[in-house]
Amino acid sequence: MIDICLLGTGGMMPLPGRWLSCALVRSGSALTLFDCGEGTQIPWKSIGWGFRQLGAICLSHMHADHVAGLPGVLFMVAHAGRTEPLDIYGPAGTNYVVEGLRRIAAELPFPIIIHELQGGETFALPGDLQGTCAPAAHGIPCLAYRANFARRPAFQPDKARALGLPVQYWSHLQRGETVEYEKQTITPEQVLGPPRRGISFSYITDTRPTPTLTALAHDVDLLVCESMYDDQADLPLAREHGHMVSTESAGIALDAHAQSLILTHFSPKVYDPGQAEKAARRVFKNTSAAKDGMIISLDYRD
Ligand SMILES: [Zn+2]
Ligand SMILES: [Zn+2]
Repeated sequence: MIDICLLGTGGMMPLPGRWLSCALVRSGSALTLFDCGEGTQIPWKSIGWGFRQLGAICLSHMHADHVAGLPGVLFMVAHAGRTEPLDIYGPAGTNYVVEGLRRIAAELPFPIIIHELQGGETFALPGDLQGTCAPAAHGIPCLAYRANFARRPAFQPDKARALGLPVQYWSHLQRGETVEYEKQTITPEQVLGPPRRGISFSYITDTRPTPTLTALAHDVDLLVCESMYDDQADLPLAREHGHMVSTESAGIALDAHAQSLILTHFSPKVYDPGQAEKAARRVFKNTSAAKDGMIISLDYRD
């Protein structure tokens, strides 16, 4: 199971009752943070997930509402006693910005490894997640992300018994290891069932809709997507600033065959995100507007 907490839901600036949009993802006890706007550590503190297990931060782009919270979060992780490395992923320019922000958080007890990506790479994220990314359309280098949690095939006891294999070897094969038993080499494929569907989600923010992003989010269990504007009349504004109105976000979810859509990154002028939700539902039914602190738990579908 994967838990995703939307610590904040705002774009541009934090507001009373609305922190900046980001997603904290928990797989096992391991944490990955997607974006890190100003004050991110404050709603994080209130959910009680701790900071020490933060193993990676994926940054969409280098606008302040997505990165300015980094020193505060790094300080909290240090204060929690982390000594293991922390990976930071982001588009071109991440190194320059993160190194600058680190000058006010210089004394950290853990190394930071920065990875600048172009889109299309795959990389390991904490908690056995596999990350991938695609370029977004926001006027500056910007990435959208996807994370997949693979599910092992089911172990088939009948096949193991038919091979005469004692029970103490079964767990090794379940973990994907090959076993030597009475001069036989037994591989996991001999005792495991067909591939099974895992869990996946996508985080897409600060972008116009593009076919590349639809492909990135193909068949995800959850799409967390920006909805800067709730009103169709704001479409010219969305085009000008590289954002979306909620019906466009819903269009991505629909075309990607996503299972569910959560809208976030609301403009300060969006007073009631419920309006964005209402409009988007006309395009993609399983849409919700995010609320600050909302936690979504994703489990296997079957
Ligand atoms: Zn933004
Ligand atoms: Zn931006």
